[in-house]
Amino acid sequence: MAAKILIVEDEEKLARFIELELTHEGYDADKAGDGRTALDMALAEEYDLILLDIMLPGLNGLEVLRRLHNEKQTPVILLTARDSVMDKVSGLDAGAVDYITKPFAIEELLARIRVALKFRHVPESAGADGPQDTAASPGQTDGTLTWGALVLDDKRRTVSYEGNDISLTNREFLMLKLLLENCDIVLSRDTLLDRVCGYDYIGETNVVDVYIRHLRSKIDDVYGIKMIQTVRGAGYVIRRK
Ligand code: CA
Repeated sequence: MAAKILIVEDEEKLARFIELELTHEGYDADKAGDGRTALDMALAEEYDLILLDIMLPGLNGLEVLRRLHNEKQTPVILLTARDSVMDKVSGLDAGAVDYITKPFAIEELLARIRVALKFRHVPESAGADGPQDTAASPGQTDGTLTWGALVLDDKRRTVSYEGNDISLTNREFLMLKLLLENCDIVLSRDTLLDRVCGYDYIGETNVVDVYIRHLRSKIDDVYGIKMIQTVRGAGYVIRRK
């Protein structure tokens, strides 16, 4: 079945151009020209991916993203006219899987769409396309990884701490899983980026820092623990409890 993509862009010419390209690639594309319409459509329909402009009339893109992700975790790629680090980081903090700065080459947008769509079915694909050539954690039994009171269930794709469910995006989940599988092994930003975002990811390695920050704010900060450690100049590690 064709992936269903919502294009949220108030520049009508650009929106129509993207729509034509996506349709040509075999995707099923819808358009919205303002933030409120976009949010209504995104909540009413099951989209596989949303391309979301930041500067929009009505609600801006970041606000649409926040409200949408309160309800559901549809993957979002932000389209930003400004090459602003703040926009990108607030967007990634709010749960966007990627961003692209306008003006962009359509081939680059299509490449990023393919990468984002690869993460649609994590439970089926997580084992298959994540090569694990390092030792498994001793906490691993039938697809479950544990660290103290933290339990990651790979089959059910859930994470909990002291029995409380923690809601993670696909990439946050994959990053946590990779760190837990490699307990005591420092993983570089390049390794984390390759394994979590895929070898064809075009973004920058500091995106890894953003995902680590998401994980810390959802787990470490909430439960007052120091699970993910930064190893200066080397990467990140979870030390065995
Ligand atoms: Ca705009």
